[in-house]
Amino acid sequence: MKKLFVLFLFLAAFAQARTVDIVIKNGTVLTMAGPNIANGGVAIDKGRIVAVGDVSGYQGKEAIDAHGNAVLPGFINTHTHVPMVLFRGIADDRDLMDWLTHFIFPAEAKNVSADFVKWGTRLAAAEMIQSGTTTFTDMYYFESVVAQEAKRAGLRGVVGETLIDFPVADNKTWDDAVAYIRNFVKQWQGDALITPALAPHSAYLVSRDHLLQTRQLANELHAPILIHVSETQNELKQIAEKQNGMTPAAYLDSIGFLGHDVVAAHGVWLTPDELKIFAQKRVGVAHCPESNSMLASGIAPVVDMRRAGVTVGIGTDGPAGSNNNLDMVEEMASAARFQKVNKMDPKVLTARDVLEMATIGGARVLGMEDKIGTLETGKRADVIIVNLQQAKTQPVYSVESAIVYAASGSSVVTTICDGKLLMRDRKVLTVDVPAAIAKAKQYRDQVLKSLQ
Ligand SMILES: [Zn+2]
Repeated sequence: MKKLFVLFLFLAAFAQARTVDIVIKNGTVLTMAGPNIANGGVAIDKGRIVAVGDVSGYQGKEAIDAHGNAVLPGFINTHTHVPMVLFRGIADDRDLMDWLTHFIFPAEAKNVSADFVKWGTRLAAAEMIQSGTTTFTDMYYFESVVAQEAKRAGLRGVVGETLIDFPVADNKTWDDAVAYIRNFVKQWQGDALITPALAPHSAYLVSRDHLLQTRQLANELHAPILIHVSETQNELKQIAEKQNGMTPAAYLDSIGFLGHDVVAAHGVWLTPDELKIFAQKRVGVAHCPESNSMLASGIAPVVDMRRAGVTVGIGTDGPAGSNNNLDMVEEMASAARFQKVNKMDPKVLTARDVLEMATIGGARVLGMEDKIGTLETGKRADVIIVNLQQAKTQPVYSVESAIVYAASGSSVVTTICDGKLLMRDRKVLTVDVPAAIAKAKQYRDQVLKSLQ
């Protein structure tokens, strides 16, 4: 017994001296799994979180002092189209259908290539790292290139190749797109950072047969489905005309399309019955308040969704005409503010609520809550530090309030994903930002010329 005790002391002493990859100290830690920890830290080793709170027993090869700042899980963007940063501001202040059919689809037809997607994703990666996003959920074309760029930048991505009923940049027919997806999923499934997904655009741009094929393919490949659902009233009208007066989510349910592996973007016009279906089928919703306001799509019934038991995360949507940035801090503030106005009650969605939606809520929407979304021992180390020492964030009475209502994406000073430093003290380490910006300017000139 005495020997065991000596051994224990020896092991304890050894553990106290443990050297790990990164130690963050002296911050206010928002674990998002329980109460905040004052003057605490996070120890990270081999991509995982090995200690949260008291990290006095750990020594970091990289030691980061977060004194006076907030340490929290990286943000999870549950819906976007990142390569579209290269179309940022191309046609703002328009209706969704006008914007899509007269600007975005023609501009995409003339400009989107593997190279366009590569540089767009690279610029977007820089922007996401600079604003504390560590996981993004993408729907676009050439998603294999998006995956490569995300991995190169060190970001986690759920990347969905688009399926749509007209020829697009990478696939000219439905069968081509299905073949692309089969290869794409085979290539990326099991990757530490990338989750390949299927992204049928919507129930108004993908036929019933093709939606059913998508469902079968997702079952066969065990890959998630990303889709726009119930975004605008125009969509409701189109679906009602084609599907016997049905609403989009009810229609998708009627053909057996919905399931826990579906991430539905927007859900602005979901009915109370559809909320019940979403809760029952465990369909996650990506709430995109800035896109919904910018395109005047409406205000999603987020408070009702949460009350009905629907899992809700936050997304920026694409950065071209429907946002126009990838800043999740701004998105959280908008999410809270719009719900307060919508219900004429400032209590319905708090700073803490939207922080949860942007972290663990997003992880649940993506079915990744065992891996990311909170700061807990054993989880992958996706961690950010938010500077609360700025004029705009001082003094701090509530950390949640300071982050959501006073800070901005540019208040994020350090971004770590899967245990790797992507930005430290505002210096991006994994993307050549000036090169990405220079290329973006070239692409702007090319896009403008192509539309003349
Ligand atoms: Zn979208």
